[in-house]
Amino acid sequence: MKSFGYTISEDRQIDFDANDRKVTGFINAIEPSIRLCMGCGSCTATCSAGHFTDLNIRKIHTFVQRGELQHLKKEIMKCMLCGKCQLVCPRGVNLRNLILSIHTALEKSGL
Ligand code: SF4
Ligand code: SF4
Repeated sequence: MKSFGYTISEDRQIDFDANDRKVTGFINAIEPSIRLCMGCGSCTATCSAGHFTDLNIRKIHTFVQRGELQHLKKEIMKCMLCGKCQLVCPRGVNLRNLILSIHTALEKSGL
């Protein structure tokens, strides 16, 4: 095959039907403020743990909404529940409770 000097990017399409959205429903019910997020990123920018690890609270939020649970457990273990992210959130999302809800949800679903 002729080389054009570049490769085609891997498919990044998200297959929502293949994702388990039960945990998403459970978390949305416990912490409805999660729906108020407008994705500004202030939480991630101020995250205490984010200064020392690759923790990205906004990414966690997105994983939950998409029902992508594979990496959630490892990610939330990096959070030290200081609550700084919550203090700066312009939409009043209760992020600390979100993390705790994810712990509960993953425990209940045996993940
Ligand atoms: S509560 Fe967790 S996610 Fe929020 S700022 Fe503190 S360490 Fe970061
Ligand atoms: S600071 Fe609040 S509104 Fe902004 S991305 Fe984080 S949770 Fe969403």
